[in-house]
Amino acid sequence: MIFRNKTRYQVQLLGADVLRQVAAPVLAITDEIRQLAGAMALTMDAFEGIGLAAPQAGVSLRMVVLGVPAEAIGENPTPGEIELLPQMPLTMINPEIISRSESCGERSEGCLSVPDIFAPVVRPNVVVVRFQTLDGAMHTCECGGLLGRCIQHELDHLDGHLFIDRVVPEERTLIDSQLRRLEKFSSRHEHLRVTTR
Ligand code: ZN
Repeated sequence: MIFRNKTRYQVQLLGADVLRQVAAPVLAITDEIRQLAGAMALTMDAFEGIGLAAPQAGVSLRMVVLGVPAEAIGENPTPGEIELLPQMPLTMINPEIISRSESCGERSEGCLSVPDIFAPVVRPNVVVVRFQTLDGAMHTCECGGLLGRCIQHELDHLDGHLFIDRVVPEERTLIDSQLRRLEKFSSRHEHLRVTTR
């Protein structure tokens, strides 16, 4: 049997209801929450993602795990990049964006729940995010670069939004047939992909 003695990881696919729900706040940081964070980090690694939100793991709670590589730090890094990139994988509990820069940038995004589809999304270049870590400490950080982008993408998941909702209309037309195929596939399979390691 192929899966014997191996751990299985699953990610919810486009079409799953949990990806479209507004997730509930984490009320207390319990052992269960710490275990979920650990399982999410393993899943993110297994699929080589740089972030995973709890709804993607099938749990409608406001928490995300980030795994943005340290090399992604830019030339003029924001304080949040300097502080947070050495702490990956990092769990953010009840994260909230409290301000956004007026300046925006376009960058290609992908998502483990929308596999193999990439499209440009315009977002603010810098955000200020407030969150709790697993030790209960509150943090407020100004984050730009790939980290700021990843935070915005992951926090969107907590409100039931996917990056494909934010793709500019011309590009959206280009990926529409791929999205339809993916939704059809996911309606027949309970979960996206299962991998083993
Ligand atoms: Zn995503």
